[in-house]
Amino acid sequence: MLRDVARSAAPAFPDFPMCPATPAVSSCLALETHLKFTRFAAALAASAFALASFNALADVPAPQNVPYQGSLKITVDATDVAHRIFRVHEVIPARPGPLTLLYPQWIPGNHSPTGPIDKLAGLVVTANGKTLTWTRDPLNVYAFHLEVPAGATQVETRFQYLSPQDRRQGRVVMTPEMLNLQWNAVTLYPAGHYARQIQTEPSVILPVGWQAGTALEVAARDGDTIHFKPIDYENLVDSPIYAGKYFKRLDLAPGAKVPVHMDIVADAPKYLEVKPEQLKLFRNLVQQMYKMYGAHHYDHYDFLLSLSDKMSGNGLEHHRSSENGTSADFFTDWKGNVFERDLFSHEFNHSWNGKYRRGADLYTPNYNLPMSDTLLWVYEGQTQFWGHVMAARSGLWDGEQTREMLAYVAATYDKGRPGLASWRNVQDTTNDPVIAKRASLPYRNYQSSEDYYSAGLLIWLDVDGKLRELSRGDKSIDDFGKAFFGINPGQWNVDTYVYEDVVETLNDIAPFDWASYLRTRLDGHGPLIGGIASHGWKLVYTDQPSDAVKAVETRHHHADLLYSLGLSINKGGSIGDVLWDSPAFKAGISPGMTVIAVNGHDYDADELRDAVTAAAKDDSLAVELLVKNFNEYKTVRIDYHGGLKYPHLVRDSSRPDTLTTLLKPVH
Ligand SMILES: [Zn+2]
Repeated sequence: MLRDVARSAAPAFPDFPMCPATPAVSSCLALETHLKFTRFAAALAASAFALASFNALADVPAPQNVPYQGSLKITVDATDVAHRIFRVHEVIPARPGPLTLLYPQWIPGNHSPTGPIDKLAGLVVTANGKTLTWTRDPLNVYAFHLEVPAGATQVETRFQYLSPQDRRQGRVVMTPEMLNLQWNAVTLYPAGHYARQIQTEPSVILPVGWQAGTALEVAARDGDTIHFKPIDYENLVDSPIYAGKYFKRLDLAPGAKVPVHMDIVADAPKYLEVKPEQLKLFRNLVQQMYKMYGAHHYDHYDFLLSLSDKMSGNGLEHHRSSENGTSADFFTDWKGNVFERDLFSHEFNHSWNGKYRRGADLYTPNYNLPMSDTLLWVYEGQTQFWGHVMAARSGLWDGEQTREMLAYVAATYDKGRPGLASWRNVQDTTNDPVIAKRASLPYRNYQSSEDYYSAGLLIWLDVDGKLRELSRGDKSIDDFGKAFFGINPGQWNVDTYVYEDVVETLNDIAPFDWASYLRTRLDGHGPLIGGIASHGWKLVYTDQPSDAVKAVETRHHHADLLYSLGLSINKGGSIGDVLWDSPAFKAGISPGMTVIAVNGHDYDADELRDAVTAAAKDDSLAVELLVKNFNEYKTVRIDYHGGLKYPHLVRDSSRPDTLTTLLKPVH
């Protein structure tokens, strides 16, 4: 999900890498390299401009692609789970003179400037036993300036990361049973160097007896202190830790040369029960990904999983691991959590799409330069697509469950995003991590937010249909996956791409005007659900909710009447969402109101559904809601007679069923 920030008075990106960090670049064909560079430079023009503007303001040295002297020795004391405090001690090699330390702002995977600087406290910097004065840059509050005294060869920093006490403050990452340590939250690093040019020697002190899962490699364990092998800062930030009192490690690729594990922490031992048939599905997932891509880009991989109702949920991709936070009963209420299962296929897919191959404008030298999200419809959109497809191919979902989820998504882009039909487009929503930072929005359906995920899924489904049509069934999106992401087996340096690379790869598979095809969908306001029809299915609405809708309603304690009355209602009658220009909207209902009564009776979701059904049978009846708005009560009459409406996919027998083909496991 995220990314990065600011800088100083240098020419625009004098040494920004053209194919960042990739030894393989040297083996690029000269022409290809030239093309990549030209496109990359173009893609970066906007962020270079932003950088230049910033440089004129803040006094922060620009990152250079040269090694930092020495290695940062980082120790994080994570034992104070009662106060939920991480205590940090860093020894940073330094030379006498000015030094700027940065706290990461643009966090990879979040695609936005959301580094939790508000939680950093108690910063004290010393050198040669003396406390140094630091000054925060007023134009870049993530930068701390100080003067290293003559004779000093290093500075020591001590500070705390005061992790959230409740979810209104951010993600809860420490509980009495577990913790989630993200290195970007607990480190300062020197400005002036690329993140991958800064070496680190990290250690963590865990509560007594706890065990840890991480992609970091252990150098030594001394009691409850774990010393990790040296690693560059970029890969350190990409290698979080899940640790806990109750821990289990599962082998997801038995006998494989490149190990894949699932490291689980849980609220209680009973949640760690994983049945052999459940384990089998996750092993299938690994194999299905390998079969589709034909290569992977890590030397080992760890799914880090928290099963907790205390620690906040999560889904964050990394190159050699992923953070997956689900409810405590994920395995023990297997059916109840069915629609959380694609989290794993989604996050795993990011190792290929997003981490190994990354949009060039997203791969910045460090975490304090702005990132640009223009290609998130590939990064997240295609990952959302494979998240669903691989959930089906691995057996985490059956065909019916997958179709129900696709119907749910298709309905959103059929009727549930009036803003995309009128004023925004999918491309513009790639700015949302920076615009909205996942804040709750008053009229999300009209404002749109991060639609590159699910609209992206539908665009790639459409692309798959088109590839099959153009090649008469010979090619599919699997061929794109292999050609674009399944290259250079075993390499795991970042390999960047630009928009034209996507178009070229599609053209290599099946020649067509892919540029217009994609731009029409990304920049236009037209329908996005063509992929349903091209795979031989139709989106219909009936008065019966699918199991997917029911499961989502149960999980979130709400009643989904978006496609009938045009609203969803949370537990206790509070209105969650009101679809723009829907019958409820036109009747004067808005999010934030509370429904007190339905046709003169206490509010109850079933009472409301019955009222909608009754009004469909008798035109003289309406749905009358007594609603509370601040301290006012009023009765709102919704003249709606269309009955309940829930989305489903049904077969279109006039066309071949290629959806079933797409969802079938590869042998
Ligand atoms: Zn994602």
